[in-house]
Amino acid sequence: MPTTPFPGARPGHHQDPGQRPSCLERPRPDEVHVLFLGLDGLAAALAVRLLRCGVLGLNVNDTAPVTAADLGTGAYRPADVGRPREAALRRRLRELDPRCAPVSAPELFPGALLPGTVVVHSLALLAAPPVGRPLPGPVEADSWAGIDPRHPLVSLHRAGGVLLRWPTVAWAHRPCPDCVRATLEGREPGAAPHGPAAVLAAWAAPAHAEAVAVRLAVEVLAVALASLCEDDDRGHGPAARERGGARHAALFVPPWPDAVSWPELDRSRCLCGLDQE
Ligand SMILES: [Zn+2]
Repeated sequence: MPTTPFPGARPGHHQDPGQRPSCLERPRPDEVHVLFLGLDGLAAALAVRLLRCGVLGLNVNDTAPVTAADLGTGAYRPADVGRPREAALRRRLRELDPRCAPVSAPELFPGALLPGTVVVHSLALLAAPPVGRPLPGPVEADSWAGIDPRHPLVSLHRAGGVLLRWPTVAWAHRPCPDCVRATLEGREPGAAPHGPAAVLAAWAAPAHAEAVAVRLAVEVLAVALASLCEDDDRGHGPAARERGGARHAALFVPPWPDAVSWPELDRSRCLCGLDQE
């Protein structure tokens, strides 16, 4: 049976010195491993889209129950409401592709020396505590302590109906809530939707989340592919791992999926010490 050679691998052609060698071996999507921390409706839809693209290494983590608000993107079903999100999503992924054996165990996620790993962190941004009150304690699970700090991170923050996607950074440099709040507060003040526009935003919220999930699936694949094509400096600092990642924050505002703005990062209030690049 004739086969189609991968571009660049034709015999008789000298390898372009700028071409990274592992890319000639044509990495497959089943070499990609994604660790999900937080499984709201958007993150669950993202996991489903990645599975559709051939990503089988899915580690999904969120013990909170599925709520009615999670149903819109179609990843969960009404019968899942009240069940732990991770259990419902594992079952859904297995049904969609029997080759997929999703787990819920961050400690089993490969280290960053294995190329093709990405962490997706999706969470709702909690309101800042009143002035004078102490900040709430860390909400990160103990099982996250062993996550390799070099993994590239796609970090998603829901707040007030909008979604902020932080630029791709190493897990060790993940943004803290103060950085996310300051960035959201510094954005261009858009007119709050009212009247029919507000109704449309509410009606279209599930479709908007689904469209954003599609876009994020491509971004996650790009981050993973960049590290699969890195042979030269694998494991040498986070920069090499993030070459395929987004360099700017993006703000997605319903109802229109193409309504994306690029807010400036504001880490001036950061006290967590995680902001050093
Ligand atoms: Zn911070």
